[in-house]
Amino acid sequence: MTFSFLNSIHDIDSLIDNVVEAKEVLIHRKFTWRIMNREILIKFGEIFLKGENRRKFEIALLENIKKRINKFGDFKIKQMGAVYSICGENVENLMDEISKIFGISSFSLSWSVEKNLEAIKEACKNEFDNVNASSFKVEAKRSDKKFYLNSAQICNEIGDFISNKYNLRVDVHNPDVILKIEIKNSAYVYCHNNKGLGGLPVGTSGLGTVLISGGIDSPVASFMMAKRGLRLNAVHYSTPPYTSARSVDKVKRILDVVSRYSGKIKFFNVNFCDIQKKIKTLCAEELTTIISRRFMYKIAQIICTNEKSSCLITGESLGQVASQTVGAINCTSHDVDIPIFRPLIGMDKEEITKIAKKIGTFDISIENFEDCCSLFSPKNPKINPILKFVEGDEKKLGDMKQMINDAIDNSEVSEIGD
Ligand code: ATP
Ligand code: MG
Repeated sequence: MTFSFLNSIHDIDSLIDNVVEAKEVLIHRKFTWRIMNREILIKFGEIFLKGENRRKFEIALLENIKKRINKFGDFKIKQMGAVYSICGENVENLMDEISKIFGISSFSLSWSVEKNLEAIKEACKNEFDNVNASSFKVEAKRSDKKFYLNSAQICNEIGDFISNKYNLRVDVHNPDVILKIEIKNSAYVYCHNNKGLGGLPVGTSGLGTVLISGGIDSPVASFMMAKRGLRLNAVHYSTPPYTSARSVDKVKRILDVVSRYSGKIKFFNVNFCDIQKKIKTLCAEELTTIISRRFMYKIAQIICTNEKSSCLITGESLGQVASQTVGAINCTSHDVDIPIFRPLIGMDKEEITKIAKKIGTFDISIENFEDCCSLFSPKNPKINPILKFVEGDEKKLGDMKQMINDAIDNSEVSEIGD
């Protein structure tokens, strides 16, 4: 067979060029059209430390992730060792939701491709087309030991490819960008590794009951205990008609924000009006706040037990107000015999406010609505009340058990969050 149209060396060169180009186009089409997917890789946090219980924590995290993402579409989750991966159409829209799930140490939106070098290079190109950097470093991890290149070889191959293509400097100590390549069931490529919330999957520590006011502190306390694995119920005391429906609505909106982290919250709005009025009329003025607080705790304890919840949570911080001195806290919780968690006890307002802003409750908390405590609070509350005097004064109220039962009967229950 003769190639009469090939008249010169130049023609042969150009034919070779065309063949090489055609091959590149085919490779590009194969990998970009058929195999390149977006997947979110999720790495577990502290649940690794849980020894024999580890599987229980993994299942809880998996269920929590499913609950959160189901409403956004049909996604598939698979487990690869200590990593979950989520894939499906528009999976990138789930990033914000994933950032609010406790138990996750980090998560990344990756390109998932077939396990071969050409495909991995294509994914790197996709990633680097959107990266603005002058130096980079490649970190490769080969969990699939059958892959034909080891981690160092992957780093070398891809490092050369990126530095030539984008004219970038390799800097292993202080790079602008770290390109991660992980060889598992597929090859995964990504640059941005987002820090997760950490903590434990919600539900793995049981159910807690938070005393929620409309203020800055108690939503932060709720967030912090959900982070330690508690599901939440919430109890709020309102005093209609002195407090308005709008102040209860404010608390519900705060809880709606908290529920984005904690999942659904069962909300008890307890009508505290009769108790507050009776205390104000019959008790010593300087003790009214502390006696009101004692009622709040006792009612919360009963609701807690009825709901099979095992602990109370408050937003108290030592010394913040008169009712939060050591003496006052001792009087308040003296009759409660379940654990009371006060995650903010050693924090100052600035630290608490910072978290409130970060989780998104602050702007609602500072809306100005009347609160049952401020409306009924005395001018000069006793700063270090003595228990026996407080108990003595309470005797003037008569049948306290009946007062407590009436308030519980007079509460309104709803569910917050979806
Ligand atoms: P927050 O502490 O939530 O900012 P606050 O500062 O107005 O609100 P404090 O007077 O500091 O409330 O009360 C201490 C804790 O007592 C609150 O963090 C909350 O757990 C509980 N508490 C106070 N008021 C109420 C209320 N009306 N309903 C339920 N719990 C309340
Ligand atoms: Mg407070």
